[in-house]
Amino acid sequence: MILGSNLHTHTTFCDGANSAEEMVLSAIKAGCHTLGFSGHSYIEGEGSSDWVMSREGQKTYVEEITRLKRVYSDRIHILLGIEQDYYSEPLTENFDYIIGSVHAVVVKGNRIDVDLSPDALSNGIQKFYGGNAMAFVKDYYALVADVVNKTKCDIIGHFDLITKFNEKHHIFDVQSDEYKKIVFEALDALIPENKLFEINTGAISRGWRTTPYPEGFILKRMAERGAEVIITSDCHNKENITFYFDEAVEYAKAFGIKTLNIYKGKNIEKILIREE
Ligand SMILES: [Zn+2]
Ligand SMILES: [Zn+2]
Repeated sequence: MILGSNLHTHTTFCDGANSAEEMVLSAIKAGCHTLGFSGHSYIEGEGSSDWVMSREGQKTYVEEITRLKRVYSDRIHILLGIEQDYYSEPLTENFDYIIGSVHAVVVKGNRIDVDLSPDALSNGIQKFYGGNAMAFVKDYYALVADVVNKTKCDIIGHFDLITKFNEKHHIFDVQSDEYKKIVFEALDALIPENKLFEINTGAISRGWRTTPYPEGFILKRMAERGAEVIITSDCHNKENITFYFDEAVEYAKAFGIKTLNIYKGKNIEKILIREE
């Protein structure tokens, strides 16, 4: 295993299936040197739904990951991270790293989730954008372009999450020039921030996609413009901590990525995967 490290991990503190400790034990068994937790940050108004941590739960989460760090310190590096949603309040606790993510577009107080279900997405576009999917896409990427500024993240989460359902439900045309133009605008705005972009395998393990985020043409642009990337699994259960990692390395290589960033404990190491 070339990577041995995953920083995008969910647990029963939010919408994951396993406890944090079960995830640690599984990561050790899989031979990982580093496991970072990234619970979904509390979002005001989303408190009743169980995909984000509650306000109280976020505190307990910090305590529990801190405890696990201590207990397993001789076996694995554990990092306390968070997946900070675009619509969450600014963080007050200290985290080892932050993944910044856009999961929804809020228009006039109405929340349209991009990754909840194909129906929620299609209905939202119908209801609030009069069926104009590209107008919605544009609003989504405007938020993505602002995600570093808004969340103060170290890692940009699933850049094109909006394509989650597109392989199975053609909600908009990802090959159209119009789409590419919108994407490149957001990407070119983010690259100078010098943060890490995820190559995220989460939608493959959940059966929605056959390739990681981002789409190949986006990854190619990232490679050409010198963007830095990190492979993560966005795992929600203990079986998927390093899901599709070897294939993701090949995927990155195929689109021109030369180096990968890997957290070894808190240190970021670069590994060369491609010479030319
Ligand atoms: Zn996410
Ligand atoms: Zn996630």
